[in-house]
Amino acid sequence: MTDCIFCKIIAGEIPSSKIYEDELIYVFNDINPKADVHLLIIPKQHIAQLDQLQQQHQSLIAHMILKLPQLAAAQGLDSGFRTIINTGPGGGQEVYHLHIHLLGGNNLPGFQ
Ligand code: 5GP
Ligand code: ZN
Repeated sequence: MTDCIFCKIIAGEIPSSKIYEDELIYVFNDINPKADVHLLIIPKQHIAQLDQLQQQHQSLIAHMILKLPQLAAAQGLDSGFRTIINTGPGGGQEVYHLHIHLLGGNNLPGFQ
């Protein structure tokens, strides 16, 4: 996806503050953090949104979810964290490359 900003971040064409990377996923700081810790976890494969996941993505999405506690712990979020996946215009999704928001620490917002 040449016009996808998150694909460009993965490719290094747009700078990002990288937290973690492996063969399947890329993790970086949100440019407009809504809490003291605000990470985005994205698959390296371009998948636009949650409701486009298929059976073949089962191990990928499991990998993303299973990484969350480890990423939260590395950020010092000992008392817990919040995860959000916005899906489609009705869910307030702005970037159409699947991502999990991981938020925690002070200034954690309530749901709007
Ligand atoms: P969405 O509303 O799609 O769930 O969230 C998209 C998120 O991506 C927003 O929190 C926004 O701040 C973040 N974002 C958008 N463009 C960039 C960017 O170029 N770099 C980074 N690091 N985050 C971005
Ligand atoms: Zn993409």
